[in-house]
Amino acid sequence: MRQTIDVIRQWIAHQWTVLKPWMLRQWQRFMPWFLHQWSLFKAWVNRMWHLWTDRDNRWLSLPCTVAALLVLLVSVKSCQGIVYYYTPECKILKLGYPIDEARALATALNHEQIDSLIARGEHDTIAYPIINERYYIADNFDRYLAFHKSDTTDAPLADIVAAVNVGIDLDPQESAEPCDTTMDRLMLVNRFHYLNEHHKPRKLKEFKKIFCYEEQKAAPAVVKAFEAMQKDCKKQTGAQLMVNSAYRSYKQQIGTHKRNPKGYAARAGFSEHQTGFAIDVTSLQHPMRWPFDTSEEGIWMREHCHEYGFILRYPKDRGHIMNYNYEPWHLRYVGKVAARQMHDEDITFDEYYAYYIEPQAKTQRR
Ligand SMILES: [Zn+2]
Repeated sequence: MRQTIDVIRQWIAHQWTVLKPWMLRQWQRFMPWFLHQWSLFKAWVNRMWHLWTDRDNRWLSLPCTVAALLVLLVSVKSCQGIVYYYTPECKILKLGYPIDEARALATALNHEQIDSLIARGEHDTIAYPIINERYYIADNFDRYLAFHKSDTTDAPLADIVAAVNVGIDLDPQESAEPCDTTMDRLMLVNRFHYLNEHHKPRKLKEFKKIFCYEEQKAAPAVVKAFEAMQKDCKKQTGAQLMVNSAYRSYKQQIGTHKRNPKGYAARAGFSEHQTGFAIDVTSLQHPMRWPFDTSEEGIWMREHCHEYGFILRYPKDRGHIMNYNYEPWHLRYVGKVAARQMHDEDITFDEYYAYYIEPQAKTQRR
């Protein structure tokens, strides 16, 4: 403690030695100018007073005062005008944006974004509405505009935000980075986030034999959640959910991908199955993936899996934005809180991660 105080004291002393000469210099520089202005002002006030008190010239003092005030007002106004001319708001206004949009954009964007908006040289109709989108991420502003310009499908703004947030405009070959495994059950593995060959879940537990055709393992929380879900599913629909595939090591994934290079199997390192939090589920009654999709238990599982902490990782009708295939059998365990939120907000895990988790992780790293 004492040492810290000493360090702070020394630091302040040092700063003072630097600051003192600087203050002196400024004093010497501005004092004559200031004194000069002051004497001018005093002389002017004196003169006015003289005129006012001088009975012969009293008629002159009023117009003089009014004229002086007018000059003052005009110069203040023109100063304001000149200053405004150089503000971001005015620069955006000159591109043809309405005043309220220009004002909002100038407040919401940082310097670089404003510069790039001005460099576009024209009024971009989505610039303003996009910053009011529910899942707008400030860092992605330029990319939203660029993606919208290149998009030929006339996608709604919400889809543009979602697509860019999950990196559809980026090249996975160039932008892929290691998965942040400290996120545990919320770790993101996709085309842009990979696991290395050494990554293995901290703990794995076997599913009971009656729930799988061959030995399957997953993180203990996943096994527990699956058992609770299948129990309720059986009660509601009479069908028995089965785990087709769960944890797959990096090595196993190499084999899976080789057998199915263009289909649903991801490249080794890019498969969620390596996390131990993903399972492929069908039922004893509908062991094939596609009839399972429309079976009673398949529909029940889609509607209720979030109650047990699972999400349907690759839902229908989002694939075109997210660039993946619909997989009604692939569940991902994220815990009940996150699963409920994604379910209620109707967003995929990639969107959830981009909006709720990544910005936080970034600020923590800074
Ligand atoms: Zn799967």
